[in-house]
Amino acid sequence: MTRSARPLRARIHLDAIRHNYRHAKSHTPHARALAVVKANAYGHGAVAVAQALAAEADGFAVACVEEALELRESGIRGRMVLLEGVFSPDELALVDQAELALVVHNHTQLAWLLAAAPSRPLEVWIKLDTGMHRVGFAPSEFHAVNAQLAACPHIGARVAMTHFARADETAHPYTAAQLATFEHAVSGAQIGRSLANSAAVLAWPAAQGDWTRPGIMLYGVSPFVAGDPHAATPALRPAMTLESAVIAVRELAAGEPVGYGGRFVCTRPTRVGVVAIGYADGYPRHARNGTQVAVNGQLTRLIGRVSMDMITVDLTDCGAVQLGDPVELWGQTVAARAVAEASDTIAYQLFTGLGRRVPRLYDGA
Ligand SMILES: *Cc1c(COP(=O)(O)O)cnc(C)c1O
Repeated sequence: MTRSARPLRARIHLDAIRHNYRHAKSHTPHARALAVVKANAYGHGAVAVAQALAAEADGFAVACVEEALELRESGIRGRMVLLEGVFSPDELALVDQAELALVVHNHTQLAWLLAAAPSRPLEVWIKLDTGMHRVGFAPSEFHAVNAQLAACPHIGARVAMTHFARADETAHPYTAAQLATFEHAVSGAQIGRSLANSAAVLAWPAAQGDWTRPGIMLYGVSPFVAGDPHAATPALRPAMTLESAVIAVRELAAGEPVGYGGRFVCTRPTRVGVVAIGYADGYPRHARNGTQVAVNGQLTRLIGRVSMDMITVDLTDCGAVQLGDPVELWGQTVAARAVAEASDTIAYQLFTGLGRRVPRLYDGA
């Protein structure tokens, strides 16, 4: 969508994404980094983000073949890894044609790979379940799986990988235990290693391996749980500014309720601003009274329930506010994380839930 009647838009700062990618690399100088651009680059626009990183990224990671093909069709070359592999053997022809690399995480996928007849050797990432307990081979199976793939003439490069369940809690011992399980499982194998998501890139140097997989940090959000000693990540730059404008202003007396269900009741004479964004745009409906929002660059608070197309904010202490004045929902003044925490979710969900009717505007292309 390039034209939109409403003042709502997401500005995407491609320079910030490049900066954040370089920051990930600087933390893991011995590894190459796959930029994770699944789910439309966490809502930022996969094609634009991949193009912005194309000159320097060591590769890209996506969830599935459709996401990879969208990038290939827009001219993105180089290594591209399917993080969930294929869902049926038919997809292997597309993987071959588009020169994709793919994860194998179970025996069914392994059988499909061994039975394939690609035009060139396939690059395969062997996923081990070291404690996440979603997908992956048991660590004890690694050598047998690796040996079958190594003996197969149409399988090329192999990488051993795993994924951390709790790397965002830097004081928790679980990550070290997963790392030890992984190292023990793959020991002796001449094979590349890949373990680190954003949290591990920033906080677990022992897990950098040969390939990292930073996602959320590319978009400028700290991956750590609130209150973690590593939670502040001032070197990261927010890559999305979600902005809209004031579309109505009214004065309410103390005691008057605002919006559906009267969830907020004015405790003083209150100037209420109405802003053009709602849950249909991806603003979280569960955002509490008091959730931060910035009007004319000044921090204030959400009051009342989030509607489908509108929210209401407190302008009482914001000075003179005119219709059309700018409102930032998250980005430079309001941290996406703060909005996420005020609605019991994570910035990943806010970004990926941004509605189709929110135009993305790019700077720094
Ligand atoms: C999504 C994903 C990542 C990126 O995780 P972040 O927390 O966003 O850095 C890394 N590895 C795998 C396997 C993933 O699915």
